[in-house]
Amino acid sequence: MIPKEIQEKIKFIIQENGLKLTNQRNAVLNAFFEKNYKHMNVEEVYNFSKAYCNEIGISTVYRSIIAFEKIGVLKKIETGEIYARYELTIPDKKLDHPHMVCKKCGRIIGAYDSEILEKLNAGRELIENKYDFKIDSESIVYYGICKECADS
Ligand SMILES: [Zn+2]
Ligand SMILES: [Zn+2]
Repeated sequence: MIPKEIQEKIKFIIQENGLKLTNQRNAVLNAFFEKNYKHMNVEEVYNFSKAYCNEIGISTVYRSIIAFEKIGVLKKIETGEIYARYELTIPDKKLDHPHMVCKKCGRIIGAYDSEILEKLNAGRELIENKYDFKIDSESIVYYGICKECADS
């Protein structure tokens, strides 16, 4: 479960952007809060949302996700799968973390390790300086084989 103060911050951002927190939108949010920083496609979010609002439909879930993505609360992760996945963005965190996608089982692993993030930050600064380019977003995806698949 995502810490309460981060939940409150995210709800504040949503309302600040003029979106009402309806029961359905709350259910979608709760699915993301409950699953922590999991990377979910629309159907998975729908399945978890039902626990919070049993009359919610998949199209409402989809529309809520799109609305949240527009204001930067959710981020779409393009992994090359048919269905896009979404995850919560963490408020106050400058840029994103990289993802690893296993080509065998499809699992997505987020690299949140602070040492890695620091090195990526340094690399980003180097790019900005060398190319005189201001980076405002990024999407880093590594493809390969995860440990479980490599061991089996
Ligand atoms: Zn795997
Ligand atoms: Zn992630």
